[in-house]
Amino acid sequence: MKLSNIFKHLSLVLRHKWRVFINCSKCGLVWRGAVHDLSKFTPTEFFESVKYYQGNRSPIGVCRRETGYSKAWLHHKGRNKHHIEYWTDPECQVQPLMPYKYAVECVCDKLAATRTYAGKNYSPDLPLMHWNKYGCKVQGNPKTMQFMEEIFIDVERHEEKHVLSKKYMKKKYQEVCGK
Ligand SMILES: [Zn+2]
Repeated sequence: MKLSNIFKHLSLVLRHKWRVFINCSKCGLVWRGAVHDLSKFTPTEFFESVKYYQGNRSPIGVCRRETGYSKAWLHHKGRNKHHIEYWTDPECQVQPLMPYKYAVECVCDKLAATRTYAGKNYSPDLPLMHWNKYGCKVQGNPKTMQFMEEIFIDVERHEEKHVLSKKYMKKKYQEVCGK
């Protein structure tokens, strides 16, 4: 484990958390933004991410490829309601619908992560590209999945500022999830 990666990882997490905070605040969810991803500071998540630090992509995938699974991810997804995976249970026929505040936090997280990892290569089509490549593979509630996809299509068409508002999110959730 490289000592310098402790600082690089810490700086990446803090930059990501800051972006999520800004995004969530624009959607009226200041508290969700403030407490986002706090479990990343637990030893299980922190040190694995330092060990597999990449800078331009998530260390979780690298750890999975090397060891077969990621303990940090299993720890993270079970505690963080802003992940679609939290709301899945293979024993259920229909997966539970992700509640509004966590679904919005999930969008804010994915938008922020795309910017954090892409850096100056960021473009508005990237969140949808990511969604189609990885995100949509999760077996979430169909309405939750549709909510995410429609938002990323809107980001590609009209950029982030179009979707990052309480009005937009409320309307979209109502339309797709019916609540
Ligand atoms: Zn998270």
